[in-house]
Formats: sequence, structure tokens, C-alpha cells
Amino acid sequence: MSCGKIPYIGRFAPSPTGPLHFGSLYTALASFLQARSQQGLWLLRIDDLDTPRNIKGSADSILKTLDAFGLYWDDTVVYQSQYLDDYHENLDQLVKDKLIYPCTCSRKTLTDIYSGVCRNKQTLPSSPYSLRIKTDNRIISFNDELQGLISHNLAEQHGDFILKRKDQIIAYQFAVVIDDDRQHINHVVRGFDLLDSTPRQIYLQQLLGLVPPGYMHVPVIIDEQGFKLSKQTLATAVDIKKPHMVIFELLTLLKQNPPSELQHAPLTELLGWAIEHWNPALLKNLTAICRSG
Ligand code: GLU
Ligand code: ZN
Repeated sequence: MSCGKIPYIGRFAPSPTGPLHFGSLYTALASFLQARSQQGLWLLRIDDLDTPRNIKGSADSILKTLDAFGLYWDDTVVYQSQYLDDYHENLDQLVKDKLIYPCTCSRKTLTDIYSGVCRNKQTLPSSPYSLRIKTDNRIISFNDELQGLISHNLAEQHGDFILKRKDQIIAYQFAVVIDDDRQHINHVVRGFDLLDSTPRQIYLQQLLGLVPPGYMHVPVIIDEQGFKLSKQTLATAVDIKKPHMVIFELLTLLKQNPPSELQHAPLTELLGWAIEHWNPALLKNLTAICRSG
């Protein structure tokens, strides 16, 4: 028996779809500081299941960038693609429980929220199909550490959603639940853009009998036009030549008010200060932060 505190286990899980950009580094730093300030572990996982979107060399470039910024992770890096059997075993469980059904609808014929037209198909389709999970009107709630109480009615707000795509790729919503459980993640710090996904993930955790981690969704960085910095908007890679200046700016955007004396301090000193003074409550209820050029 142990009476000690359960250690904090957090993670950063970038997709290898391009170099690490400023917006991702912002999330990485928040997640790192939260883990380190709790004397926790900070694990790194490369979310490489969506193979059509992967870009060769970007996983290595992401690791190099994190390293250059002093965001050292614990343990060895894991890649989702090492665990394909694991996803399928869990999927089989849900199939056995009759919670999943094949769907042949094309994206064109679908509205935003899936109506469930394929729910009662008796035979397996002969054309390619996706696998959807049945949802119902249950309310899924969780208390986000920054955004407060979030409640969704899954059937109304999301409908039956896809766990395995028509192209046979395991969908993000499902993979992330299996991954976080396998790695014993008990705290997830990630961008506000994923908040809307969280109730679906909690629902899957409930169906699989998994304990949900705590969640903290930090604001996303937007440009002056109000667009999120992302690989899709071609946000450029961060410059690894002056890491302390970038970290200083990120800490400012994380509302941590780093003292100006530290502007020219060595990177390790700046990060040490940031861990010691990390106060995520300064981000409470913020969903987006503008980076003015
Ligand atoms: N791989 C996802 C992304 O880059 C993040 C997954 C997560 O943090 O849950 O958007
Ligand atoms: Zn369908």
C-alpha cells in the first residue's frame, strides 16, 4: 500500500505534419511547465496515425526543436504507429458490445451532425465503410482547470462519431483515449481548439471503463486577423537560433509576466524561473491570445 501522492503524468502529442510552429510551442511550453511545476513526468508522443497528413522528417524536426528550447521530455518518445494492434483490440471490444456500426455515407451527403441513418444496417457493406460509435442523449460534463464546467449532449452536439475512417485509419478521438490510458496520462494540457473534442473522449473512456485524466485547455495563439496559428495557415517554423527570446515571448503570452531582467538570461535560468513561478490561473477563461507582430 502507498500513501504517497499519485505522481503527475502529462504529455505533449504533436502530429508530424510539419515543423513545430509558434502556436504548438506555446502549448508545449504550458504543458511542460504544468508537469515540471508538479514534479511530474512529461512524456512525448508523436501522433502519426493520420499517414496522409504526415510529412517526412517532421517528427525529427519537432524533437530537435523541443530540445533546442530546453523542453526535455521523460522516457523514450512513443509513436502511435507502434500500437496499431492495441487500437484494434479496443475497437473489437466496442464491436462486441454492439456499440459500433458501419457507415457508408459520403461526406457530401452528411450534415454536420450525423443522423444515424446507417445504425440499423444488418449486413456489412460491400463498399468501404467507416465505423461509428452510437451516442445517446447523456450529458457529459467535466471541469476544465481553466475553462470551468463544460457539458455536452453528445447526440445533439456531435451525433454518432467516427472511430475508424473509411480509409481504415483510426480516428483521432479514439486513438487519443487509448494512447493516454496506455501511457497512464493523468493530466492533459492542450489547446482550446480541442476542448470541443473532450466530451467525446470522456464518453469513450466511460464505455471502455477508463479513468479520465484532468484537463486544462490553454488559449490558442491567433494572428492579428484572428486566425489561429496552425500548420494549415502555414505558420512558419520557430527560429531555433534565439530560444531564450522565443521562450520569453511565449511566457509573456502565457501571462506569466517574466521580469525584464530575464530577457537576456540563459535559457535554463529563464525556464527555471518559469517553473518556479508557473501560475496557470492567469489564463483563466482565456480562449485565444493575439500575437501582434
Ligand atoms: N495530435 C494532436 C494535435 O497535434 C493533439 C492531441 C491531443 O493533445 O490530444 O492537434
Ligand atoms: Zn451512414
